[in-house]
Formats: sequence, structure tokens, C-alpha cells
Amino acid sequence: MHIEENVSLASLNTFGIEVKAKYFVSIYNESDLLELLKLPLWKSQPVLILGGGSNILFTRDFDGIVVQSCIKGLEIQEENESEVWLRVGAGESWHGLVMHCVDKGWGGIENLSLIPGTAGAAPIQNIGAYGVELKDVLESVDGVHLEQGTHLHLSAEECQFGYRESIFKHQLQKIFFISSITLRLTKRNHILHTEYGAIHDVLERRNIRTPGIRDVSDAVISIRRSKLPDPAELGNAGSFFKNPTVSDVVLERLKRAHPAIPYYPFDNQQFKIAAGWLIEQCGWKGKRIGSVGVHVNQSLVLVNYGRANGKEILQLANSIQRDVEQRFGITLKMEVNIF
Ligand code: FAD
Ligand code: NAP
Repeated sequence: MHIEENVSLASLNTFGIEVKAKYFVSIYNESDLLELLKLPLWKSQPVLILGGGSNILFTRDFDGIVVQSCIKGLEIQEENESEVWLRVGAGESWHGLVMHCVDKGWGGIENLSLIPGTAGAAPIQNIGAYGVELKDVLESVDGVHLEQGTHLHLSAEECQFGYRESIFKHQLQKIFFISSITLRLTKRNHILHTEYGAIHDVLERRNIRTPGIRDVSDAVISIRRSKLPDPAELGNAGSFFKNPTVSDVVLERLKRAHPAIPYYPFDNQQFKIAAGWLIEQCGWKGKRIGSVGVHVNQSLVLVNYGRANGKEILQLANSIQRDVEQRFGITLKMEVNIF
């Protein structure tokens, strides 16, 4: 285990923000992490766990220890004729994992193709796309409680998953290092989710009437490539804001004032409103201010056109929040983690 000092994080966050970590250490196994916890340095510094940096906005240098999650490994825990339980090291690439499962014919995460980042970060916001969320396939999470120095095993229920939510954003925020996740995947009788219009359209265009998991994954990849900016070319962290949910009463008020507002039924008589549409209606789509802007194809994605700093991106996000609040009376919550 090697602790470096004054390390640039520019290549380790997909916004490409140039900031430095006072200390930086990569963790390849749990025993190294437990050793780290015993060091006097550990007790005196703030800590930031870093995966692929694809859901983070740095607004300043990090004056503490950045712990990079690099634990690797894919291991079948159990299998029968119809299902497989796969344990995945936190430092594995999420998309690499999806491709591995598609190649093996294991179903459940094909809709989550091409999401950047690591497997270990997937439970943090219960990653989701095209009608599937991590919680649909997650069996359990293993990791280390950083204050107690103990290994913890959490069942899916204990992770308290919600829409882009989990216990790791609340009670266990910043004090739990996820070292592996275990997924339960199907080997046959896959349940495919093709209800999102874009997937449906691609399959129809390709004349695929009885799709398999690879067809769905291919469709998702082609939609995402056509629509979303590649962080390697244009700095971004995906959707900056969460889609808000509102009660039926609020929805009726919104529909009266804005008949075209897109909404989707959600849990507990709540409705999900497309945040991208709200932002677009406020005139932000494709708008650029200096080095920062709102992506031309997708209003939920804020981009770094060059040498922006994190504070400029945060200012843009705050302006968008203010306009949406004024026009629709809805407060957009940030999905990206701000440091
Ligand atoms: P990071 O950004 O490094 O970290 C995110 C948070 O998790 C931080 O708070 C960090 O401290 C914490 N964390 C990371 N690893 C660990 C660990 N091992 N233990 C404990 N805490 C940890 N998200 C979606 O949900 N759906 C999408 O469709 C989607 N599409 C995207 C498209 C693009 C182009 C981009 C850039 C992002 C997209 N995202 C999407 C957001 C992002 O990719 C996911 O949230 C991803 O899971 C973040 O993984 P990461 O390893 O990069 O995490
Ligand atoms: P889209 O298909 O243009 O749809 C706009 C919004 O409407 C989405 O946010 C989606 O909610 C919702 N929606 C659309 N069809 C729906 C349906 N049949 N049922 C329920 N909700 C529906 O969205 P997009 O921006 O191109 O993104 C496509 C998918 O990729 C979405 O699931 C999105 O979450 C995911 N994505 C996420 C990120 C991220 O960083 N979090 C980045 C890019 C894409 P949901 O978002 O709840 O699905």
C-alpha cells in the first residue's frame, strides 16, 4: 500500500476538473484497507472514496485522503439451472461487468449497459436506466465500516434502495467502503424490459421481434452513443439532477398550466416528472456560458467545454435550479455528489 501526496485528480473524474488530493491511496483488497485504518494519518484526515469519478463534481482541492476503490474479481457464489449468484469486486468496471454477463447469457443488467464507473459505486445511487435499477438484481453488499474497522454484510433490504437512493447516501454515507456486490442473474427465462420508447423503436427498426439480452444491450448502447456525450471527449457526469416526484394534486396543477408536461406513474400515488423537460422549457438546452454548458441533446447533462472549474459548473446548476423553481415551483435535487 503506497500513500502518495499532492495527486492530481483531473484524469480520475469524468468532468475532467483539475483538483488535487492531499493524500491518495489505491485499495486492492480489504486487508490493505484495514491496515490503512490503523495509521495515525487516517484518524486525522477527512476521507473520500473514489470509484470511476463519473458521479462526482470537485469544487476544490480535497484536503484529506482519497481512497481509490480498485478491488477486482468476478466469482460465481452459487448457481442452478436457471440462476447464477455472481460476486463482483468493487473496482471492476460496471460496463465491463455488463458485457461479461451478456457474453455468458446471464440476464438482468443488460439495460444498464454503458453506464460508466465501478461496480462498487452502483449501489450508492441504485443506478438505473431504461426501466431497470440495480436493486432488481442485487442480492447483497459487502464492505468495511470505516469508523468501526469491521466487515459488514448487507442484504438488499438493508441497503434501503429507492429511486437513485440507498442507505449509502444516508446513515452509511462516507463511513462505509463497499468492497464487493453480489448479483442474482437469470440463465434462462429472462425478463426483458423494452418498454422505454427508445428501446422499442431501435428493436423495431432492426426488425427484431423476439429480442434476447444481447439485442437489448446493443439497443441501449446505440441509443446512449447517439445521445449522450462521451466523457472522454466532453467532460460530464451524466444526469446532474434527479427526476422530481410529485403528488397527484401537484401534477394536476402542473398539467393545467403546462398540458405537454411528461410524467410517469411512480410509487405511492406519486408521479415522476422528466427533469430534462423542465430544464428545456426554461431555455437552458444547448446553452453555453464560457467553459460550461447544458448539453445540446440532453438538458439533464451539464458539460465542461474545456478548462472549467467545479465552482462554475455548480453556479450553472444553481441557476438552472432557480429558473425551474420560479417557473414550475419544483426544486430539482442534484444527483451528482458535490465535493
Ligand atoms: P464515483 O463517481 O467515483 O463515486 C460516486 C459516489 O459513490 C461518491 O459519493 C463516492 O464517494 C461513492 N463511492 C464510489 N465507490 C465507492 C465504494 N467502493 N464504496 C463506497 N462509496 C463509494 N447513473 C445512473 O444511475 N444511470 C445512468 O444511466 C447513468 N448514465 C451515465 C452516463 C454518463 C455519460 C455518465 C458520465 C454518468 C452516468 N451515470 C449514470 C452516473 C454514474 O456513472 C453512476 O452513478 C456510477 O455508478 C458512478 O460510479 P463511479 O465508480 O464513477 O463512482
Ligand atoms: P428519455 O428516454 O428521454 O426519458 C426522459 C425521462 O423520462 C427519463 O429520465 C425517464 O426516467 C423517463 N421515462 C421515459 N420513458 C419512461 C417510461 N416508459 N417509464 C418510466 N419513465 C420513463 O431519457 P434519457 O435521458 O434518454 O435517458 C434514458 C435512460 O438512461 C433513463 O432511464 C435515464 O435515467 C438513464 N440515464 C441516466 C443518467 C444518469 O446519469 N443518471 C444519464 C443518462 C441516462 P428515468 O430516468 O427514471 O428512467
